[in-house]
Formats: sequence, C-alpha cells, structure tokens
Amino acid sequence: MTYVIDPPARPSLPVQGREARFPVRRVYCVGRNYEAHAREMGADPRREPPFIFQKPSDAVVSGVTSIPYPPQTRNLHHEIELVVAIGRRGVNVSAAEADALVFGYGVGIDLTRRDLQQAAKDGGKPWEWGKAFDNSAPCSALMPTDVIGHPASGRIWLSVNDVIKQNADISELIWSVPEVIAFISASMVLEPGDLIFTGTPAGVGPLAPADHIQGGIDGIGTIEVRISDSEHR
Ligand code: MN
Repeated sequence: MTYVIDPPARPSLPVQGREARFPVRRVYCVGRNYEAHAREMGADPRREPPFIFQKPSDAVVSGVTSIPYPPQTRNLHHEIELVVAIGRRGVNVSAAEADALVFGYGVGIDLTRRDLQQAAKDGGKPWEWGKAFDNSAPCSALMPTDVIGHPASGRIWLSVNDVIKQNADISELIWSVPEVIAFISASMVLEPGDLIFTGTPAGVGPLAPADHIQGGIDGIGTIEVRISDSEHR
C-alpha cells in the first residue's frame, strides 16, 4: 500500500513483561461510574444506565515524562481510571462472557478540560472539546490477564505533588467491567485494540504546569506524569 502522505503512526501501549506492544484502535470512556464522583459532579449516580464517550486513539500516550498544559482551558482536571484493553472481537456479549474479550488492564488518566466540558453541558453540546484533546489519555503499561487474571477489587489512587487526591477501590464501580463490555458491545463491535476507560472515583481536581502526578491500581500498575508549560504555539 502506498499513501499520498506519510501514514500517521499507530498509537500503542507497552505490555508488562513483553517486548511486543498493544496497538490502540478506539478509546471508549465511561462517565460517572463511581457513586461519590457522580455526586461531586452534581449527578444522581443510581438512576442512569452507563454512558459512553470516546477519545481519539492518538490521545493515548505512554511512557512520557511530561504532558504540556493544553490550550483554551483554565481548569485542567485529573481523573484516574482503570483501563480495559480488548484483545478479542465481541458483538452482543453477555456480562458472563465478557472477561474472555480482555487482553489486559492498565492505569489511565482521563485528562479533562473541565471548564470546556461544563460549558458544553450547560449549552447542551457535545463533550468533545472538554475530553478529546491531544495527549488527553495518558496510560500505563498494560498488565496481561494471563498474569493478573480479572481483578474485581484493588485500591485506585492518584496524588498531585505527593498529596493524595483520589483514593478508592475498583470494587466500587457502579457498572462492573463485564457489564460495561456487554453494554458497549450491544451498540458497537468491540475489536482487538480497543481501550475502555472505566470511569473515575471521587476527588477530581485541577492541575497546573509543573505538577507531578502519580497514580496506580494495586496489582495492575502505576502511572507518573508531569504537566509542563503549554506548547500550543
Ligand atoms: Mn473519566
């Protein structure tokens, strides 16, 4: 195959204990999937089915030392999340069948331009500009299921400049990983390479240039990112 321009690079994630990388196809994200976070965002967590938005695959970055503060926001927020990496195709899978689709798990940060997201909510407009910007989906190396299995519990945490901001357990997910996979596959064909950011617990908050962010999920991995000055010029 030849192209009229150089083809864009395929985003990918490292895999713990492997040389080969995980190629990224799509990035699905679940909104309001921990009760305390839904409440802190002013929503009632128990009334609604899961809802999904997407980020572009090249928003996924890994192994970077710094992420530039994005343009057009004054309120960049961190959201630490369990990430599911899909390794097998799935259509209309039941929750009972869903684990078989999973290649592995990772730790991601759903970076959010909260002011742009709020303006979109207020105006009844799409979340795109608040959520799907460049570098908005940093992610750890993936932990394969043949090592970790399918953990249903484990501490999930994030600190900013060594101060713990988010501290919860993935067992507190309102919609479990199998339920989320079943929900998405009822509407879209899940394919190998898809990632699912499963939602963030309470404690989201602002980031500033020079901030040092660390996070992790017990048994799955850790992530470390620094925010640098804006490079959008
Ligand atoms: Mn999120």
